[in-house]
Amino acid sequence: MATIFSRIAAGEIPSYKVAENDKFFAFLDINPVAPGHVLVIPKKEESYIFNLEDNEYAEFTLFAKRVAAAVEKAMPCKRIGVCVIGLEVPHAHIHLIPLRTEADMDFRKPKMTLPAEEMQEIAAKIAAEFK
Ligand code: 5GP
Repeated sequence: MATIFSRIAAGEIPSYKVAENDKFFAFLDINPVAPGHVLVIPKKEESYIFNLEDNEYAEFTLFAKRVAAAVEKAMPCKRIGVCVIGLEVPHAHIHLIPLRTEADMDFRKPKMTLPAEEMQEIAAKIAAEFK
């Protein structure tokens, strides 16, 4: 059965997309730890990021680097934090988080639910900066 993230990349489940190519897909985390929190995934299903082949892993992180550059331009922040957790969704993904303070990367605090219009606006801003 397809993972929820595969279904998002296929457009079967709606998401706030920020970037895509033939192999990778980036979209807003539905419950961000900070506004502009993005998830980057390979379209190929692999549950654990460190099981990707070397070349896939390299391409994936380089794609995430380009997405991070777009998030950094679009969102007011000092820099972009990056982390891998994967305890909730068994489909490899990289979290990119606009940071103003270290606390913006604290996954233990209650996560946010932003209004749909704000999510749409953030996604459009990031997408416009993606090169
Ligand atoms: P992790 O697997 O890294 O522990 O966490 C998965 C992340 O995916 C969480 O931050 C959660 O908010 C996000 N997430 C889970 N389901 C969905 C979904 O259906 N859509 C989106 N956009 N994000 C999701």
